[in-house]
Amino acid sequence: MSETLFTKIIRRELPADIVYEDDEILAFRDINPQAPVHVLIVPKIEIATVNDIQPEHAELIGKMVLVAQKVAKQEAIADDGYRLAINCNRHGCQIVFHLHIHLIGGKQLRGSAA
Ligand code: AMP
Repeated sequence: MSETLFTKIIRRELPADIVYEDDEILAFRDINPQAPVHVLIVPKIEIATVNDIQPEHAELIGKMVLVAQKVAKQEAIADDGYRLAINCNRHGCQIVFHLHIHLIGGKQLRGSAA
């Protein structure tokens, strides 16, 4: 896949408001937040879309969800609740082709699908 701006954020070539980092995963605030809390959880390796996830990525994907859970607690939205979303390709409105989970919360969200 071709490199995206998320790789540049991971390499610190672009600024971001980072809220969590470990060896495999980075989480930073979305530049155009849809709610008071809007964080993107991103694997450091380049996986373009959900379609490109392989069986060997299963542990990493699980860790991404655990990071989402940790950041939700950190941001004090865990008890009230939040949404985790992954957009895929055109119909899913994916814009950045580097896999990421949106963690969205901090207000009452509407609907669960388009
Ligand atoms: P998606 O539609 O799932 O590909 O979402 C991509 C998300 O990346 C959007 O919510 C954008 O607002 C967000 N985004 C784009 N550029 C940046 C950036 N430089 N820093 C943080 N978030 C970004």
